[in-house]
Amino acid sequence: MYKHLNQDGSPMDLPVTRALCIGRNYMDHIAELKNAVPEEALIFMKPAPALCHLSETLVIPTDKGECHNELEVAVLINQPLCHASEDEVEKAICGVGLALDLTLRDVQSKLKEKGHPWERAKAFDLSCPVSPFIPYDQISDLQALHFTLKVNNQVRQQGETAKMMRSVLKMVAEMSEIFTLQPGDIVLTGTPKGVGPLKSGDEITVSLEGHLTLSTSVAS
Ligand code: ZN
Repeated sequence: MYKHLNQDGSPMDLPVTRALCIGRNYMDHIAELKNAVPEEALIFMKPAPALCHLSETLVIPTDKGECHNELEVAVLINQPLCHASEDEVEKAICGVGLALDLTLRDVQSKLKEKGHPWERAKAFDLSCPVSPFIPYDQISDLQALHFTLKVNNQVRQQGETAKMMRSVLKMVAEMSEIFTLQPGDIVLTGTPKGVGPLKSGDEITVSLEGHLTLSTSVAS
């Protein structure tokens, strides 16, 4: 069962609710999938059963076409946020980590063509592996983080939060205009370029520079 974890691996006393995600927050990723630049933030959710631990073997669907990596900086919220200012958002962030927004890309492409919602491509069980969280007070600047995904020892994604189109605080404030964020919500902040198919047996290493490195593999 998924629980939010502290850096030392101990469980946190916060409920497990859902992941709130933003699509198309890095120009380089918008370009690689030839998507349009959104006027408003593109927001979607992954329900609680999507959450799992990034340190455990990743179990991905094998009969639904390509399943892509999207490595993203994730923040954990510990207070309700409704019509929140960026200052209020900052006070409600208790941890910063990494998450994979696993995406069934072939399924998503068909949904996009039909203008349908993305749950079939993004909200399936175990589609959101999450790392332990670094206490927010150890992060000097949310917009100066560097993060990397290696697959079989090759760098596949290298992101810098400085290159986000919407800052983390701005996007969470914007989300709080639509719905109330709840304690335990995790916000995924968008993927940089370098998405690609994961295969059974792939060795995965993620790192948030200066803060955490984790290795795992895709179930074979
Ligand atoms: Zn994503």
